[in-house]
Amino acid sequence: MSSPLTTPAVRTALTGGYVATNDDLRTEHTRGYVVLDGHQLVAVGSGPLPAEHADAAVVDVSGCLVTPGLVNTHHHLFQWITRGWAVDGTLFEWLRTLYPVWAGLDADLTTTAATGALAWLARSGCTTSTDHHYVFPRHGGDLLGAEIAAARQVGLRFHPTRGSMDLGVSAGGLPPDDVVEDLDAILAASEAAIQTHHDPSPGSMLQIALAPCSPFSVTAELLTASAELARRYGVRLHTHLAETSEEDDFCRDHFGRTPVEYLDSLGWLRPDVWFAHAVHLDDASIARLAATGTSVAHCPSSNARLGAGIARARDLRDAGVAVGLGVDGAASNEASSLWAEAHHALLFARARGGPQALGVRDALDMATTGGARVLGRQDEIGSLEVGKLADVAVWRLDGLGHVDVADPVAALVLGAQPPLELLLVNGQRVVERDVVLSVDAEELAADVLTASRELASRAGRATSFAPSTPRQAQDRPTSGRVA
Ligand code: ZN
Repeated sequence: MSSPLTTPAVRTALTGGYVATNDDLRTEHTRGYVVLDGHQLVAVGSGPLPAEHADAAVVDVSGCLVTPGLVNTHHHLFQWITRGWAVDGTLFEWLRTLYPVWAGLDADLTTTAATGALAWLARSGCTTSTDHHYVFPRHGGDLLGAEIAAARQVGLRFHPTRGSMDLGVSAGGLPPDDVVEDLDAILAASEAAIQTHHDPSPGSMLQIALAPCSPFSVTAELLTASAELARRYGVRLHTHLAETSEEDDFCRDHFGRTPVEYLDSLGWLRPDVWFAHAVHLDDASIARLAATGTSVAHCPSSNARLGAGIARARDLRDAGVAVGLGVDGAASNEASSLWAEAHHALLFARARGGPQALGVRDALDMATTGGARVLGRQDEIGSLEVGKLADVAVWRLDGLGHVDVADPVAALVLGAQPPLELLLVNGQRVVERDVVLSVDAEELAADVLTASRELASRAGRATSFAPSTPRQAQDRPTSGRVA
């Protein structure tokens, strides 16, 4: 089976489908066409294919909805092999359970986890993903290089961050001391990551950002130095912020400030920064994010899974904050479907603010253009317009799950996840009829199970599930069956 990255590029026309361009006017074509040449879109319009594109290879997508590829703005790919732990824990309980397990990570395990996570993301319509990798065990090898290789294999556009933690429990932080790094080592590795991997050129498939982990796992010195380094190289900055009420308490206790005030005091709030979660924000914090052009990765499923709350997505958008969607790590969102984040973003916004709180096109916009703005790629991805990159998702809507829903965008966002007829990234076929072309799904599943067991055994943990009392059952997963 050939890799999508080696498939020769040809002029291709998708015809006969409903095209939701998600451009500024939200232009939609009931029976439209999308033509791509190599890695770029060269024509988008209504009706039959124009004669000037008669030489294109035609792919009939009648019965389908054509949208921009979805953009994932927050993830932890390594967590794909630690799903199902601390299933009833709060964020801090869940982290304390998992830190010692993640301490056993190495490059081989990270390759397997990242390949599994990215292949699954592709199946959910994602064409561009970021990643926040913040655990770098001393003898683990090149973990960032491992996930970059995985993204190349699967075929997604990739914005990995060099994450970090330097505030261990002995210094007042949450993580155990053996999973944090020294400040100088972090800065040296961050600079090396930018120099080695960052590609700022148009159409880039790989851009690096820097991402100290969270206010309770990094020092103010690391936050400040990371910002200086990122700005020296012109790369973006990312961190978790205002995820839970416990974090809000931590910031008020330790810094005498809300999480947003704390990051503001360190010079972080600018258009080159995006924060994951931003659940616990007061009106002043939202206004400050808007005034500074700082963006947000909204992760509704993970926030719900950990009982963290529901972010004020509508208020953030109304204030003018760019809001993208993120699946977050698979250990706190075992489904890790970007399509599901659009679905949940809409449902949760309405549960919070009523039926007008978020429209189906607003949800699609957050999953596409919103994410593109968060990553600074809005001129290249996020909408189907001539000159933009050929990142396209084609959803089949003529089956049992959706056939009678008149509005295709409503069918996509409100219904079940439709079959993914086709996913193009940079003009290359990555998914066809729900099959990720670059991996063998059965082989990969077996590798993931092996890697998951290996990592658990390194932490001295059992790998089978035994029904037990709720508090004990919190600890570890399984491959077993619940009686
Ligand atoms: Zn996260």
